[in-house]
Amino acid sequence: MHRSIATVSLSGTLRQKLEAVAAAGFDGIELFEADFINFKGTAAELGRIAGDLGLSIDLYQPFRDFEGMPEPQFRRSLDRAERKFDLMEAMGAPMVLCCSNTSPLAINDQSLAAAQLHELAERAARRNLRVGFEALAWGRHTSLYGRAWEIVKQANHAHLGLILDSFHTLSLKDDPAGIAAIPGDRIFFLQMADAPLLSMDVLQWARHHRSFPGQGDFDVVGFFEQVLRAGYTGPLSLEIFNDIFRETPNRRTAVDAMRSLLYLESEARQRLSATGHVQPQRVELFNPPTVPALSGLSFIEFAADEASAATLATLLGQLGFRRIGRHRSKAVTLYRQGEINLIVNAQPDSFARARFEAHGTSVCALGVRCDDPLAAVGRATAMRSQRHDSPVGPNELRVPAIVAPGGNLIHFVPEALGANGLYEADFILEDEGAGANDAGLQRIDHVALGLAVDQLDTWVLFTRAVLGLEPGESLELADPFGLIRSRGVANADRSLRLVLNVSLSQRTRTARTLSVTGGGAVHHIALSSADIFDTAAKLRANGTRFVPISDNYYDDLATRIDIEPALLARMREAGVLFDRSPAGDYLHIYTESFEGGLFFEVAQRVGSYDAYGALNAPARMASQAQD
Ligand code: MG
Ligand code: MG
Repeated sequence: MHRSIATVSLSGTLRQKLEAVAAAGFDGIELFEADFINFKGTAAELGRIAGDLGLSIDLYQPFRDFEGMPEPQFRRSLDRAERKFDLMEAMGAPMVLCCSNTSPLAINDQSLAAAQLHELAERAARRNLRVGFEALAWGRHTSLYGRAWEIVKQANHAHLGLILDSFHTLSLKDDPAGIAAIPGDRIFFLQMADAPLLSMDVLQWARHHRSFPGQGDFDVVGFFEQVLRAGYTGPLSLEIFNDIFRETPNRRTAVDAMRSLLYLESEARQRLSATGHVQPQRVELFNPPTVPALSGLSFIEFAADEASAATLATLLGQLGFRRIGRHRSKAVTLYRQGEINLIVNAQPDSFARARFEAHGTSVCALGVRCDDPLAAVGRATAMRSQRHDSPVGPNELRVPAIVAPGGNLIHFVPEALGANGLYEADFILEDEGAGANDAGLQRIDHVALGLAVDQLDTWVLFTRAVLGLEPGESLELADPFGLIRSRGVANADRSLRLVLNVSLSQRTRTARTLSVTGGGAVHHIALSSADIFDTAAKLRANGTRFVPISDNYYDDLATRIDIEPALLARMREAGVLFDRSPAGDYLHIYTESFEGGLFFEVAQRVGSYDAYGALNAPARMASQAQD
């Protein structure tokens, strides 16, 4: 499809926006009027700049408060329109967006609205321009696409058509199913926006909290599907008013924007083909390699230098890990417990060392088990992620990798290698036996990331579009110094779980961790145990220190949840936290943090509990603050 984006969706000057949009591979833009009014140059110059960058100006927007007006205002608006048409001709923009009237003067008369829009279309037709009419969710008399379509039909002019914007329909919970019945060539333009589900004034919601498709909670794929069923073949555009995007570097936003359209096209394509639908007008929808089948984390790699590698060795020993090998050619050490592989990379002149120098001791790579690593990298690069090639020594395996947002690596480890095949190839194994300190840690339950506030949407879309993970509920948690927003993302069989944590305040512990790690870093690693009390006791005996939990927490817990007294007493004794859902229970405990703020969690899932004990995070954060 012809892919477009409204200039209001990005930060920067108009020229910078166009350059970012062109670099991300868009075909065109919607020119937001305020961007032009403040541009130092003529309409013709803007047209040339866009043309040189390979961008068409698909839409000039918005033209406000036009239809259904008393005669004097209507006449003045026609003059206003002629001046805008002059500009559009000069810059080469073929269409103007006329949004439904919000003026208190607007008259609730559909025939009058149709007649006035007919006149506007007639004026546009004289210059071979077109007018698209869009229902704003807060329009005075026209807020639904159904009514806007009635008016367009009644106006009956070839140069007047309908503009659809998913935000206005989905925010009002209006049913998009009726769109499929509208003739596709009468839909002139399509604007797509997603948003988180919020209970607030729709105008404020629309102006500040829209997001790219795949970042929010709306069924944007279902909406787009109806537009395709109508036979629409015009531009697919993004119109995103978002306070954070307005301050995020525009190159990054533009890449997210393109990824969101590619994701939207590929998802809609799948839904249509699953229903056997044949498009009345064929339109090319993006068709990337399918989402890889992922099956959990094979390893977590830490960036270190010689000194911090020694500190980590002690810490991992206390956690019950045993050193089982060193790399064939690099200063890289492998630690293992159960199915958990932790790699400490202290190799000079390496990717890991560069991450260490930038961020200190920190996680620099995750290894994900995957059925088809090359297809996974193909999917990722199709979705605009970068691939990463590490130097490979003799007899070592090449494990394909991509760069995640924030700069860490995600390796795709071939499932065919079996649990330990990769390590047998790359490491000289020293100790295959069980360690004396083994504490019963079995698997990586989840990895939690601490993200800067402008990275949450980026990560939600990245994990969805590139890794095929689905986001869960978004929660807000109280840290003693501010709010944390937390959202889990996981694959269907839950073998891979990530938790995305964002600090909404500069003063929380998470925010302070970010200032050390650059804002896209692993915040804690949760490891599973089949018997958390036994594991915690062994770890304590090994010298691991846990975050102490207040007695008040257990007194309160007993009032909220009906727990056997003996279990409550054990939890109080061991400092274990508890959460219960209808599906099952979650018992967990946090270690004290080490260098850089990173810490471990030990978790035991009982039944089919599917969350992360997020409601207990304030107990941890408050305890850490009181240390
Ligand atoms: Mg719109
Ligand atoms: Mg956790």
